Amino acid sequence: MYKSVDASVMRQFNKQTVLSLLYQQEQTSRVDISEQTGLNRATVSSLVDELIDEQFVEEVGFGASSGGRKPILLRFNARAGYTIGIDVQISYITTVVTDAVRRVVYENRCQLDARTHSLTADRLFDVLKKEIGLAIEVCPPSPRGLFGIGIGLPGLVNYATGHVSYLPNLNITEWPIVEQLSEIYPQTIVIDNDANCGAWAIYLSHRIKNLLFINAGIGVGSGIVLNGRVYRGRDGIAGEAGHTTISTIGVLCSCGNYGCWEQYSSEQALARYLREQGVDPADEFSPLFVSHCVHHAQRDVEAYSNSLRSLGQSLGIGISNLLQIFNPEAIFLGGTIAEAESIILPEIQRVIRHRAISKNKDMPIKIAPHPTVAVGAAGLALAQAIDIFPATTEKEH
Ligand SMILES: [Zn+2]
Repeated sequence: MYKSVDASVMRQFNKQTVLSLLYQQEQTSRVDISEQTGLNRATVSSLVDELIDEQFVEEVGFGASSGGRKPILLRFNARAGYTIGIDVQISYITTVVTDAVRRVVYENRCQLDARTHSLTADRLFDVLKKEIGLAIEVCPPSPRGLFGIGIGLPGLVNYATGHVSYLPNLNITEWPIVEQLSEIYPQTIVIDNDANCGAWAIYLSHRIKNLLFINAGIGVGSGIVLNGRVYRGRDGIAGEAGHTTISTIGVLCSCGNYGCWEQYSSEQALARYLREQGVDPADEFSPLFVSHCVHHAQRDVEAYSNSLRSLGQSLGIGISNLLQIFNPEAIFLGGTIAEAESIILPEIQRVIRHRAISKNKDMPIKIAPHPTVAVGAAGLALAQAIDIFPATTEKEH
């Protein structure tokens, strides 16, 4: 009796291992899977047949022969099902629907106006329901249906418990968001810090095992992938790089401290730099604020180019600090601030060459395209829904 239970548990474990492998590789074959997992060929064949029956996997023709018969190539079925990913920022929300191989089939960006109106958890919940409803309507029909919903949030959130501790710039505290959403939606629902979602999306698309993702918008956060796993720390709040001190006598931050990196490298900082130069940034809380600043800077309005350069220099200081700690394989910059890449990137690289040590000086900073965070949130929900990367996502079952 116990023996058969063990065998079925083992078979399920092996099946998830094969599915994880197929999800991570564009194409592979039964022989390759056997070699990569150490499972014997008969077991792999039987598990793959099961996954084909379940429409998770499809055969796509023959690969090159290495002497014997040509192997049949396999790939994860992109149309197996769909996932919703949401990136909640202070001034806007981006919602995507992705297919099973993370391609975006729908994207919607709506304004949030959290800074100009007082936003409560109830109001944000209503906005999320509306955005999820719109996304569900456009999900194409598929054999596995909607896998799940992933939400990236700007602040202290606990991925394992689905609980929001504190969203500083939104003034929302202690919110059991996953529990509330689960009363409406039966699918898997996952929340994570927005920068963690971005880091996970970059890991999935670039296969870089050690990387940092800096999400810079109205606030600044960082997501950390170490050895192919999102590093969340003891309480799920690792990566709050925006609240590391870069000036002991600096500007007061929403966290209560003075001189946080976020106060020098975010949209809030950009608006302050402009005011210091005598410009009143009227559209400070608009989702288009940064792109408007770039537009003015490109027309040689000095206050705008000076302010964006100052922003780039401050980003460079914080990124140099992170480089000294992590010496990662790559750093990606995302969020609205990344829209100013033509002006800020040269400044960031100049500061890094000046401040970072040894080989860190040569680290190229790459720009993450919009909507990386929403795609990463969807990716986390999919991983949870079909139980792949169990050791990576570290969710409590
Ligand atoms: Zn702070």
